[in-house]
Amino acid sequence: MAADLDNAAIAARLEAFAGLLDLSGSNPYTARAYRRAAETIRESRAPIAELVRTGRVQELRGVGRGIAARLTELVETGTIAELDDLEREVQPELIGLGRFIGVGPKRMVQIGTALGVRTADEFREAARAGRLTSVPGIGPQTEQRILGALERERQPRERRGMLINNARALLEGIAGALDGEVAGDPRRWADSSYDFAVVRAAARPQPVLDAFERLPEIVAVLEREQRRAVGVTVEGVPVELLVPPPGRFGTELLRATGSHAYVDALGKLPDAADEESLYVALGVPWCPPELREEPFRGMPPQLVEPGDVRGDLHVHTTWSDGKASVLEMATAARDLGYDYLAICDHTPNVRVVPGLDADDLRRQAEEIAAANEELTPFRVLRGTEVDIRRDGELDLPDDILAELDWVQLSLHAGQRERREELTRKVTEAMRHPAVTCLSHPRGRIINHRPPNALDLERVFEVALETGVAVETNGLPPRLDLSGPEVRLAVEAGVPVVASTDAHSIRGLGNMRLAIATARRGWATAADIVNTRPLAELPLRRPL
Ligand SMILES: [Zn+2]
Ligand SMILES: [Zn+2]
Repeated sequence: MAADLDNAAIAARLEAFAGLLDLSGSNPYTARAYRRAAETIRESRAPIAELVRTGRVQELRGVGRGIAARLTELVETGTIAELDDLEREVQPELIGLGRFIGVGPKRMVQIGTALGVRTADEFREAARAGRLTSVPGIGPQTEQRILGALERERQPRERRGMLINNARALLEGIAGALDGEVAGDPRRWADSSYDFAVVRAAARPQPVLDAFERLPEIVAVLEREQRRAVGVTVEGVPVELLVPPPGRFGTELLRATGSHAYVDALGKLPDAADEESLYVALGVPWCPPELREEPFRGMPPQLVEPGDVRGDLHVHTTWSDGKASVLEMATAARDLGYDYLAICDHTPNVRVVPGLDADDLRRQAEEIAAANEELTPFRVLRGTEVDIRRDGELDLPDDILAELDWVQLSLHAGQRERREELTRKVTEAMRHPAVTCLSHPRGRIINHRPPNALDLERVFEVALETGVAVETNGLPPRLDLSGPEVRLAVEAGVPVVASTDAHSIRGLGNMRLAIATARRGWATAADIVNTRPLAELPLRRPL
């Protein structure tokens, strides 16, 4: 019998298995089941090897007969035969490269077999030597396409970026496993990430590079040098690992964090063990990563911190399309250390999800009152995310709007309207005396829908006149206003609300993203409305 594997090792093998199943193009549900089981096993406090031996492993959530059999094999023999077979057959390195250049897994293995190549390097060599057209089914056009894709391998910017929540999770996982630091675009909390890097100091780089190759997240290593490697994930995303000697860690971390424009403008970087001493050597004040976009050598402002946040002013519940009740959301918000939470469910005009009319809001008020009784001094605010209808009217009557504590104004349809028309409609709606904040003003959905044509300068003027705040929305595909737009609002003196638009308890965690976006907009705590105590919120009527 093999020595006992710990839970993390067992989970890693199941994840590798899931990755290979994905690569081999098998049923996606199978791979997902293995991933879920891996997650359960990693989080479990019980020793899994022990549960396997006593025949109790199927009591775990997500572990059925098939997975239990694999676990038994793994615990008894230290390996899973089918996993080893798949590793031989599937040629993850070729398939990883295939994902990257747009060739499906099965086809990539066929081409590899026809060319007699097994590694990414051999494939590139064969392609450049003009051997691709010797493969049945590959004509000059396909050859050109593949050669073009290989050319672009070093220019990942042409691809679609990864949303910040996924980008952070990917790099935090890799950096955590290697005891390194997240770098690249995700360290600057970019809306959309293209450059992924992890930096880890080591006098001897080999063990770190070896560990990187073995990570479940990395299916193939495309390049390996003495102190650097590029691996690709199952989605074909390249991740760079840098392993400088300890005396150069700060230098490499700053360089790998970018942006290129920011780093280049600093000039020649001296060797430094950490970023702080590097900045001292440069004679430049330390700069938070979120501000490292354009060249800057000045003193940065004291940016707002996640810990400054006192409440969340835009969340949904099961009354509309949320997954948790008023009390559940409020309890979770209180447990995050907040003082208040505004419940802002949709109104009927949204249509695709349930919307609340005046009667619904009055019934919801009873639930909110009960939650307030239970959670006092924590305060649940009565709010709404009221639609601006096509005719420009608000989607609730004035009398109910006047009862509410917090009114988020939202445009969900008509995003493509012309600038004049759209701006007029939104600014007129902002003049309604009950409105407190304009939600996701540009309406963009990253990678799916460009920002609308709204004239922000005009919106900010009306915001100053009316006292309406503007939102930076923490949903990962929105982050709306964006960092540069928050900066314009802050410079104009318009108060900004950083909210999550959470539809679940977990969604409340997106406050980190809303705050990161505010930081990218150079915002201090004083610029952000929901860093204020309850008594200082710009409510329309006294509590
Ligand atoms: Zn909305
Ligand atoms: Zn919403």
